[in-house]
Amino acid sequence: MARDQLRRAVIIAVGSELLTPDRLDTNSLFLTQRLNELGVSVRCKLVIGDDPADIGAALLLAIPKADIVVITGGLGPTEDDVTREAVAAALGLPLEEDAEVAAAIRSRFAARGLPMPATNRRQALIPKGAAVLPNPNGTAPGLWIERPEVVCVVLPGPPRELHGMFDAAARSRLAPAAGRRGIFRRVVHVTGRTESYVDEAASPVYSRWRSAPVPIATSILASLGQIELHLAARAATPEDAARALDAATGELEAVLGRDLVSSDGASLEEVVGRLLRARGQRVAVAESCTGGLIASRLTDVPGSSAYVHGGWVAYDNAAKTAQLGVDRG
Ligand code: AMP
Ligand code: MG
Repeated sequence: MARDQLRRAVIIAVGSELLTPDRLDTNSLFLTQRLNELGVSVRCKLVIGDDPADIGAALLLAIPKADIVVITGGLGPTEDDVTREAVAAALGLPLEEDAEVAAAIRSRFAARGLPMPATNRRQALIPKGAAVLPNPNGTAPGLWIERPEVVCVVLPGPPRELHGMFDAAARSRLAPAAGRRGIFRRVVHVTGRTESYVDEAASPVYSRWRSAPVPIATSILASLGQIELHLAARAATPEDAARALDAATGELEAVLGRDLVSSDGASLEEVVGRLLRARGQRVAVAESCTGGLIASRLTDVPGSSAYVHGGWVAYDNAAKTAQLGVDRG
């Protein structure tokens, strides 16, 4: 491998549909998880339409920021799939037809009793020097391109094809040169406090973790009614990470006390369910302005029928009096 250390990644998701309100780039979430497990951190993600000039510009923007650039999407046979050509042009590599890839595509069609459409021949065009990553779930092969300055991995857009190909072909190629430490995450939930209160209480604790032997990076995320602390430990083994994260969440429990709801990622409703189960208690809810929201959250937890009896939504004042015996005064 040209580079013996792969630490920083940039992900480029290609597809004009990803720039509309209708489709979300989820491939980069999968790729981030897999790269993090290998100890590669994602520095930047770009979403680009099916335009060769834009794809090339994105790749050239990514290269100085990354040891590895993962590009997903736009490898299909149709005219709007231009990633292969754009990557080859940006890296200055000529495209050459790969006889083996062409034969593999032809035999995929033959197995279904069909001739190969002429458009699919494009998928057999490979940038000179690139290695082909076989696609067991589709016709578009992936590409592994090593340059002195970067490793460029090009994978198809359909999530099933991307997942299969990353796990079967890309991961084993990346692993030997990836970071020796993986990134392992844990989420801590806090409720009933503001973001600034949580940060003031927790930052003297978590700021020390950055330079610990197993360093832990922390970010705070606020959502309706709850604050999440996301901890990311860099460790050589999952066991080392678990030990460091256990110690870290113990320190957070000490400063946040009862405001800390869970330190294993469990939501407020999961924690309520655990407590009810442990006490052998059941709950029924009577709701008004929440319109059933509390019952909905409680029953979002699989197996909650063990402790949720049921709920009533009485919205109108007369219904509250008649059905729930609420005092009229
Ligand atoms: P393509 O490889 O560009 O032909 O992608 C084909 C299909 O894969 C698209 O229509 C999407 O449904 C899906 N897809 C492409 N890119 C992504 C992405 N980044 N995240 C989720 N789905 C995607
Ligand atoms: Mg596409």
